Amino acid sequence: MTFPTQQLNNIDTPFYYYDADLLRETLKTINEEAGKYENFCVHYAIKANANPKVLRIIAQSGLGADCVSGGEIEAAVAAGFPASKIVFAGVAKADWEIELGLNLNISCFNVESLPELEVINDLAAQLDTTANVAFRINPEVGAHTHANITTGTAEDKFGIAMRDMVKAIRMAEAMKNINFMGLHFHIGSQLLVMDDFVALCQRINELQEQLDAEGIALKSINVGGGLGIDYENPDANPVPNFRDYFKTYSDGLKLRDGQTLHFELGRAVVAQCGTLIARTLYIKQGVAKQFLIVDAGFPDLIRPALYDAYHKIENIMSDEEEEVYDVVGPICESTDVFGRARKVNKTKRGDLIALRSAGAYGEIMASQYNCRQLPKGWTSDEL
Ligand SMILES: *Cc1c(COP(=O)(O)O)cnc(C)c1O
Repeated sequence: MTFPTQQLNNIDTPFYYYDADLLRETLKTINEEAGKYENFCVHYAIKANANPKVLRIIAQSGLGADCVSGGEIEAAVAAGFPASKIVFAGVAKADWEIELGLNLNISCFNVESLPELEVINDLAAQLDTTANVAFRINPEVGAHTHANITTGTAEDKFGIAMRDMVKAIRMAEAMKNINFMGLHFHIGSQLLVMDDFVALCQRINELQEQLDAEGIALKSINVGGGLGIDYENPDANPVPNFRDYFKTYSDGLKLRDGQTLHFELGRAVVAQCGTLIARTLYIKQGVAKQFLIVDAGFPDLIRPALYDAYHKIENIMSDEEEEVYDVVGPICESTDVFGRARKVNKTKRGDLIALRSAGAYGEIMASQYNCRQLPKGWTSDEL
């Protein structure tokens, strides 16, 4: 990625910078690769990044929206996503959130428990409407990723157990204000091994056979998101491998006639187009190392502190030789470290530092800890 350094240098730091052209290229690739298969519908998982300018570009590409809260539904509608392309997941939907979805007539509620199903049926009856519903099934497919971001194993709080699936569907079919659509899955995030998705396909094939035997037909299957990105080499792999990803599902899943297959991609859509730009405040010499202290901290980008996540770090104003730094923020917490022993071009006070691949779970997770301002987000279109 080449940064418009002069323009960036005039903006108050820290802030998020989004390369709108890369985002549009990513969306084009998604549409081309998913478009090779009939009945593939791609939704963008709003929780990865809900910056209104980013959302608007994604909505314009024609993707649907995957929401996990009422606030996300509102953000999606404001950005131009049609309600007919909005799906709503989440372990604990509040009444007002369900009512919002019902009033907008969103395309599907992904339901995660039987008590929730009953509440949706009751609220739909009060509003004299019908709710389209899919059940989130816990497929017990372990995903090879950080323990804090696996979601599909037996001990996770998400979804309905496989052994309760038929019972849940029978209950839904008997409810007057519920229209049962299908099944929903989501096994984790930052998955780079296609084997995990293959395992999910195999599990879904087994479940479909079980349902066939019960005479239950599914209109839709939703396989969630989780496709990972290359945090180490953002310039070599700016667009994730959507071709293999969609092909894996096309090859692995035995879809029945007329079934639609839904995807909910978050990180893979937005991560590479976003960068957190921070300014160097001080270079401090320690005993055995030197610290590059920037004006961004974990309130601006929490992934390193929360998940031990790696973000490539670059000085975008220096062509001097690399030196080794611990790159740290100003917050009084020992986890406020963006990278230890990183090679960065020799840096001086005032230089802009880029924390790469920060477009997903970056700006949206920012907090005001220490009474700091929330970081703003700018797209390349605006500069
Ligand atoms: C978080 C989430 C996603 C998106 O996950 P990514 O790893 O960002 O692709 C999709 N579906 C559900 C239900 C989620 O909770």
